[in-house]
Amino acid sequence: NLFTESNLGPNLLKAIGELGYEKPTEIQKQAIPFILEDDRDLIALAATGTGKTAAFSLPVLEQIEESSRTIQFLVLCPTRELCLQITKDIQSYTQHMRDLKTVAVYGGSSISDQIRAIKNKPQIIVGTPGRVIDLINRRSLDFSEIQYLVLDEADEMLSMGFKDDLETILRETPAEKRTMLFSATMNREVERISKNYLNNAHKITV
Ligand code: AMP
Repeated sequence: NLFTESNLGPNLLKAIGELGYEKPTEIQKQAIPFILEDDRDLIALAATGTGKTAAFSLPVLEQIEESSRTIQFLVLCPTRELCLQITKDIQSYTQHMRDLKTVAVYGGSSISDQIRAIKNKPQIIVGTPGRVIDLINRRSLDFSEIQYLVLDEADEMLSMGFKDDLETILRETPAEKRTMLFSATMNREVERISKNYLNNAHKITV
């Protein structure tokens, strides 16, 4: 039950070792092997503080094509604070993967700075739905090569009224991608979005 027993590569293991992570948390024990070895969508019921960011990020980062400068991984989350936290976590996990770039896009901050950052061709975008829509409308974000999509705190995004934005963004992404929905709670709205936008999803509850 150590990270070194998982199929994560040396660069990720080095980074998480430096962060002091030794053992995977419960959600990580379940999600990391599933995301690495299966190809189905995922619904994970897990609260904040359970290690869910590493649970979805590490196995996706392992599978991203570092040499390709297209957006392959999109994480959508409800707030600016969470967006910045996830971005910081992913940047620390990828610190030994020099060619991987992550850009955070969120409201209440200069859109032109974010457009400039996107021009550096990141493989990973972490964003809040409203700002992502603004950037799509400005033709700044190309989602045609996305392979992994995470809806983090899906229940929060829906209760904050981001349902239409989420559906617009989901329609901008390729059908052939893996979608992973994380939520602290399951309710009718979360059920509905899962039913409409996930295929044959595997469920994990911690
Ligand atoms: P999260 O639920 O993703 O917000 O993570 C909660 C906190 O736990 C963050 O500060 C992480 O850096 C930390 N963390 C995540 N996974 C581990 C782990 N396996 N060992 C120690 N700390 C961890």
